[in-house]
Amino acid sequence: MNITLIQGDGIGKEISDSVMKIIAATGLDINWEVVNAGITTFESTGELIPDNVYKSLEKNKVALKAPITTPIGKGFRSVNVHLRKKYDLYANIRPIKNIGTVPAIHQNMDIVLFRENTEGLYAGIEERINDDERISIKKVTRKNSERIIKAAFDYAVKNNRKKVAVVTKANIMKETDGLFLDVAREVAKNYKSIEVQEVLVDNMAMQLVMNPSQFDVIVTGNLYGDILSDLMAGLIGGLGLASSVNMGEDMAIFEAVHGSAPDIAGKNIANPTAILKAACMMLEHIGKNKEASRITKALDKVLSDKNNYTVDLGGNNKTDEFTDKIIDLL
Ligand code: NAD
Repeated sequence: MNITLIQGDGIGKEISDSVMKIIAATGLDINWEVVNAGITTFESTGELIPDNVYKSLEKNKVALKAPITTPIGKGFRSVNVHLRKKYDLYANIRPIKNIGTVPAIHQNMDIVLFRENTEGLYAGIEERINDDERISIKKVTRKNSERIIKAAFDYAVKNNRKKVAVVTKANIMKETDGLFLDVAREVAKNYKSIEVQEVLVDNMAMQLVMNPSQFDVIVTGNLYGDILSDLMAGLIGGLGLASSVNMGEDMAIFEAVHGSAPDIAGKNIANPTAILKAACMMLEHIGKNKEASRITKALDKVLSDKNNYTVDLGGNNKTDEFTDKIIDLL
């Protein structure tokens, strides 16, 4: 099985090396096509996304991607956003679930967030009117709203989930978020077994902090989804634990929710859990459920002993020590 691996920037190589070793320890023979994109690649080749990345993605259709640095406020647009748009990876799916005994603000969280991944304020339609005035246009379409909302409801039915929360700010953005909400109401008519919760995004932020167990599946727009999923990652113990997939009709790119963590790059202290969980989602996607389940169990067991925690979780394990502990269990 060929899978594209984009090693990315910052801690990307450290955490993706860890994943490759752990998957190899299950006995699964994956032919990783290791390619690179991002700022490190740009500095050495003059290209942010070299041709071999596109070729590999288009051939294999499944990829694991380590985080990529994006300059803030200036410079090139995000490689991540570019790939999502180019390959129409419209569904960003982010499961948030406690792991082991990792200290968390909330225990027993089990929510899956569906974030529209191709439009909204991430469409990048921005304009400089003059030095002191800038605008950013939020684009919402029926087609793109419908497919992400359907994906969330289909997931709920398939996974025996009871509720879907539709999160908007439709009271203020009556056109854009209003359309998203209208479409959700229409789609929901076809899913009679699912309870629909309509929640405004500001209230949602508060409700998630106060009482997250009232939610099951969440579907929302691009920016809200980005922010709420980081917030939820914080509730289960931090960004080092949350994984995601960018899913289109015929391609899927799996990744951690966190960024390239330049502050800890090269120190062998990054926590590989988030990208490892993304790799487990990837294994399930390619039908390797048994291996995904073995890794998930081993990870849960390792993270049930605080002596195994990495630095971000308050422990002192190095990336490679943590990796070896999972491999020992496998
Ligand atoms: P970040 O997620 O990289 O880091 C935030 C904090 O969390 C840092 O203190 C970091 O050390 C810590 N952290 C993150 N991942 C960790 C891990 N696996 N183990 C231990 N600690 C971890 O967010 P940022 O600093 O805002 O962004 C850095 C860069 O990453 C930016 O250029 C940003 O654009 C990019 N980014 C990329 C992606 C992606 O590729 N999908 C996602 C988010 C941010």
